[in-house]
Amino acid sequence: MAIVGIIKERQDENRVPLIPADIKKLVGKGFEILVEKGSGERSYFLDEEYREAGAKVLEEPDEILSKADILIKIQPPSIEEAKVIKEGAIYIGFTRYWENPDYLKIFSEKNITVFALEKIPRTTKAQFVDVLSSQATIAGYKAVIIAADLSPQIFPMLTTAAGTLKPAKVLVIGVGVAGLQALATARRLGALTFAYDIRPAAKQDAQSVGAKFLESPVWAEGEGGYARELTEEEKKIQHEFLAKHVGNSEIVITTAQVPGKRAPLIITKDMVDRMKPGSVIVDIAADNGGNCELTKPGEIVEYKGVKIAGPLNLPSSVPRPASEMFSKNMANFLELLVRNGQISLDFGEEILEKSCLVKPGVKNA
Ligand code: NAD
Repeated sequence: MAIVGIIKERQDENRVPLIPADIKKLVGKGFEILVEKGSGERSYFLDEEYREAGAKVLEEPDEILSKADILIKIQPPSIEEAKVIKEGAIYIGFTRYWENPDYLKIFSEKNITVFALEKIPRTTKAQFVDVLSSQATIAGYKAVIIAADLSPQIFPMLTTAAGTLKPAKVLVIGVGVAGLQALATARRLGALTFAYDIRPAAKQDAQSVGAKFLESPVWAEGEGGYARELTEEEKKIQHEFLAKHVGNSEIVITTAQVPGKRAPLIITKDMVDRMKPGSVIVDIAADNGGNCELTKPGEIVEYKGVKIAGPLNLPSSVPRPASEMFSKNMANFLELLVRNGQISLDFGEEILEKSCLVKPGVKNA
């Protein structure tokens, strides 16, 4: 039966790709699981729990890399790791393939089959393996918690003997998976929530979590349900429309992305000029350059009393539930790779076909 390996992620990644509860089930199905010592420690899953679940906990990552038939990672491997991975193995992980990283060339040379998690179809049928969605949910939640922490006010309306406090006005720009969770979380905290997106389908989604949808003057649905990049003319129209709404919001959370491209620039400096001191912007798109002109990825900057946070890799900052969800998605993915206890890649299966970036001898990037 297939040997599945996980090694420790790099220093700034707190998640682990498989957790003990899922390993126990996979071992029950006949998988052999090798785990590098300490892999789960930053998400609070202990080596002892991995052993109890039936995994072999090993000291040396190279031993795992050279033995595993299937390697699961969250962050792309280093060149050194890529060199040690077994010839002909299967690799599953986030790849950042659009940056054309060197390790992918090594994988091609070593006949490694690569499943890129970024390429999993965004359909209801693929939800059970869709890590982009599960991790975006966590990012949306955490963005609101950061905003609430940075804001000088509270979110809910409070009526007490000491008077009435108004609820905070929260605007979420980009109502995909992260944006929807941000809206839902802000609403749970009692804020008045507003939503903006350029995909028509986002309106109903936003309303379903109690937000007021700001009707966009431009609609730009692209391929596969994603948004497309706006033209220069459309960007101008969007800018005029959004400037007043941004100025009226105390908290703005931006999540807008266009696949394979730099995140669109939506909040310009002149829009921030219109915000009141004490307002907060949390830019979830900072990993891909950010939606706000003033965002500095990985930093919190202050401009005329407005705080602009550009947190990176938000799911890693909530590592336990993020790992639980990632792991469940990966345990499901593994089931797609085996038939009768043996690895059998059926590229007639849409999820495998679409997410396969490198098949031995063929590139699909
Ligand atoms: P994403 O991270 O790619 O982008 C976030 C949001 O930003 C999207 O809603 C997008 O429309 C919006 N956006 C992009 N450019 C914008 C701009 N200039 N101004 C305003 N908004 C802008 O999105 P995602 O969360 O990865 O979701 C991508 C698509 O996949 C969506 O259509 C989503 O509904 C769909 N999806 C479907 C399922 C399913 O089960 N059917 C699951 C997950 C995602």
